[in-house]
Amino acid sequence: MRVLITGGAGFIGSHLCDYLLARGHEVICMDNLITGSTANIAHLAGYERFLFIKHDVTNYIFVEGPLDAVLHFASPASPIDYLEYPIQTLKVGALGTHKALGLAKDKKARFLLASTSEVYGDPLVHPQREDYWGNVNPIGPRGVYDEAKRFAEAMTMAYHRAHGVDTRIARIFNTYGPRMRLKDGRVVPNFVAQALRGEPLTVFGDGSQTRSFCYVSDLIEGIYRLLESEVTDPVNLGNPEEMSILEFAHKIVALTGSRSPIVFVQPEDARVRDDPKVRKPDITRARTLLGWQPQVSLEEGLRRTIEWFRDRV
Ligand code: NAD
Ligand code: UDP
Repeated sequence: MRVLITGGAGFIGSHLCDYLLARGHEVICMDNLITGSTANIAHLAGYERFLFIKHDVTNYIFVEGPLDAVLHFASPASPIDYLEYPIQTLKVGALGTHKALGLAKDKKARFLLASTSEVYGDPLVHPQREDYWGNVNPIGPRGVYDEAKRFAEAMTMAYHRAHGVDTRIARIFNTYGPRMRLKDGRVVPNFVAQALRGEPLTVFGDGSQTRSFCYVSDLIEGIYRLLESEVTDPVNLGNPEEMSILEFAHKIVALTGSRSPIVFVQPEDARVRDDPKVRKPDITRARTLLGWQPQVSLEEGLRRTIEWFRDRV
């Protein structure tokens, strides 16, 4: 396949580039580097089957030659990123998705949208199944991300129904691993960096909110299987092993061998407004339709991630 990955210089996008190249595909990585970095793809420079194009996908996308698939991963993804770039986040979810779909239609390529568990908002149904419509505050600080992704899903289904574009929607739950930015503000890099530096781990609120963490290689395998499948309705991809953020903080302290204390902080800012209280994917559809489930245990995934961060803090 000849594949375009938007957001290919980001955390997940760059792992996707590696995976597709390793499978013998040709990869065009397009990114404006707003939250990504060429450091994530520097090792691919010189590959014959790899091309990087610096471009903001909210503008018309031009790609020469045929394309078999367009994988749309461009979007700020961490709460502090999309709070810093609210309008860019809305634009890439709306205009960027429109441009990427237009390209897929023109090239008769398959299209895959990187959607998110945030479409479920602060969920009233637990665990979250794909047929749950969600509980999102459109005007809250997270609304810029959540509503952009909800719009992106609606646009994807409209292109599927109206133009017959062959589309896939992955609803990705919290994913972690090497190449996350140390300062992207998400809980994994925050806690790991704090533990490695011997600083206090900052648990927001009372730490009873839950999350379920998926190691990046598992997620990438799920994305590839979804792309290869014929499933056009959304599919949750994530690890159903759920824990509270407080338990997670203890796990990071134990795995890093750190002496850091755990402190409870109550940020006044937008980071914790509408913070989902629970999150856990129901992955029945991924299991039955894709034959997929996570393989990497949380301990193993965190060990690999901690090793990666150890050299960088
Ligand atoms: P990331 O910030 O590392 O990667 C996003 C990439 O998109 C960056 O390289 C950024 O520069 C690029 N980008 C943003 N706007 C762009 C634009 N207008 N034009 C071109 N490039 C642009 O984040 P990530 O964690 O790798 O997330 C990748 C995708 O997966 C996002 O769409 C995100 O919403 C989705 N996702 C991630 C998670 C997760 O836990 N990591 C969970 C759910 C969904
Ligand atoms: N969190 C925390 N301390 C931090 C960073 C995050 O307690 O230093 C919490 C945050 O409030 C949320 C959870 O960890 O409940 C996961 O946050 P993250 O930003 O990783 O992603 P989210 O799942 O909210 O998109």
